[in-house]
Amino acid sequence: MKLILLGAPFSGKGTLARKIQSDFNLVQISTGDLFRENIKNGTEVGNLAKTFIDKGQLVPDSVTISMLKARIANEDCKNGFILDGFPRTVQQAEALENLTKIDAVVLLDVPFDEIRRRALGRRTCSKCGEIYNTSSYDKTTCLKCGSPLFQRDDDNLETVNNRLEVYERQTAPLIDFYADRLFAVKGQDNPEDTYKPVKNFLEGKL
Ligand code: ADP
Ligand code: ZN
Repeated sequence: MKLILLGAPFSGKGTLARKIQSDFNLVQISTGDLFRENIKNGTEVGNLAKTFIDKGQLVPDSVTISMLKARIANEDCKNGFILDGFPRTVQQAEALENLTKIDAVVLLDVPFDEIRRRALGRRTCSKCGEIYNTSSYDKTTCLKCGSPLFQRDDDNLETVNNRLEVYERQTAPLIDFYADRLFAVKGQDNPEDTYKPVKNFLEGKL
């Protein structure tokens, strides 16, 4: 099964992707994570991407599309994958249509007010990538692996507002683009409540 998770920044895509990944045995591909890995390793793609990411802008389509294309050509993607954070523009979606057939798109629907509230509390594990929020877990180390948690450089109010604006303008049009394959779910405070209907929907597709 080839799946896309669509939703604004902080809508909970990453958390949902992890649940789907473990239940359905699909590879999770996050373009944000791929960029951060490139930045950490100081690659050419990473250095270029950082200048956009730090401003809350999208990385240019040509760069993002070729990175994603290389990733899904990998052996581990043969049986399917979950895309988290890609596509984010209609041009990316069109490029993806030419690469492979997407079976379903899950839209995670969360009001922008709620998103701003969550945004500044997000903490990420430096080792395993687990995501927390200070509103429910206000400690400095990861529950799963004990590594330090950190706040991402781009999780500040100015960047968050930019990212929401970019989402409205560039990514929201994908809701219409994928209308024939879309399953919309309201993002709840409790990730389990969000996941339940999604799980039912995906089981129906097997
Ligand atoms: P979030 O899900 O919190 O919005 P991500 O980790 O998915 O953040 O992405 C972080 C940043 O990486 C984005 O703000 C953007 O600059 C860049 N990025 C990620 N995916 C894409 C994409 N598909 N196209 C362009 N830029 C991207
Ligand atoms: Zn961890």
